[in-house]
Amino acid sequence: MTETLDIKITQTPTSRLAETDFNNLPFGKVFSDHMLTADYEDGEWKNFEILPYGPIELSPAISALHYGQAFFEGIKAYKHADGKVSIFRPDKNAIRFNKSADRLCMPQLPEDIFIQSIAALVDIDRDWIPGKANHALYIRPFMFATDPFLGVTPSANYKYIVLIGPVGPYFSKPLRVKIETHYTRAAEGGMGYAKAAGNYGSSMLPARKAAEEGFDQLIWTDAKEHKYIEEMGAANAMFLLDGKLITAETKDTILDGVTRDTVIALAKDWGITVEERKVSVAELIEGAKNGKLTDAFGAGTAATIASVASISYNDEEYFLSDPQTREFSKKVLATLDDIKYGRSEDAHGWNYMV
Ligand SMILES: *Cc1c(COP(=O)(O)O)cnc(C)c1O
Repeated sequence: MTETLDIKITQTPTSRLAETDFNNLPFGKVFSDHMLTADYEDGEWKNFEILPYGPIELSPAISALHYGQAFFEGIKAYKHADGKVSIFRPDKNAIRFNKSADRLCMPQLPEDIFIQSIAALVDIDRDWIPGKANHALYIRPFMFATDPFLGVTPSANYKYIVLIGPVGPYFSKPLRVKIETHYTRAAEGGMGYAKAAGNYGSSMLPARKAAEEGFDQLIWTDAKEHKYIEEMGAANAMFLLDGKLITAETKDTILDGVTRDTVIALAKDWGITVEERKVSVAELIEGAKNGKLTDAFGAGTAATIASVASISYNDEEYFLSDPQTREFSKKVLATLDDIKYGRSEDAHGWNYMV
């Protein structure tokens, strides 16, 4: 632990809180009154500042825009019934933030500075955290290269920014998903394990094509053979097959999700066998046909647990059991909510109190 982070604070003279419609919170469109910014210059982080949310001035030559030296994180903060506020497992995001930075030749941000900067911003805008069920404050820390230089080389200067905003449920219904067998999200040796901005830009065309065919999400498969399940959209894909929780093992093509890790910990608490391994498309389709695939969902901070209604593969759609009847994912979601909203004991120490 380093000493307390020195942050310059400029409060907004005109809060937008009163005019914000908390009954209509499309994901990622509503931001709180303030944001946090910091600069990496001369080999160190400086100028930590909380200021009114708004546009910033940048050179059009910054290499983040040209060569994608940029990445992000996604975290949520929750309001408990007694008014207390917690952030869910930010220590995990701090570690992953630096893994992404490392992959993109960007500077490390000490874990305690990452957490302290986020906690300070959440504290200032704590009235923006919705108190309603299934609502939370979404936290978006990100870093990007700011050298105004068109050479393809790592920037010397960077900006770290944190935005926060209230959010409601991400998906409103169980998802029809398509197993993608042409496009690839991440290849071995690539940067799939980093939350690199470029990974999401490249996923938009395949996602749009799937949406045009009527699907809500894609299930990505391995780049070489398209035979093994990797992830679901921007969430980890998890399945209950023959009573076991199965999910792709984390490697360089898989984002090591905090929600994935949390679901695995809960399953182990409950004595369920967990297998982190290669998951073949063939065994899932077989399980969907013979009824042994009893649960399927995406796990991620934004969507939490996103139930899969059907899986499509080679133009054949396989419907799974009614999500309302799925014991495992329902229990995971209820248990997670109880911990996050402070209704049950936080035995794993996942809540970071603000
Ligand atoms: C963010 C993300 C996840 C989920 O990670 P969490 O830490 O659970 O939010 C999974 N896969 C991809 C590709 C992601 O971008």
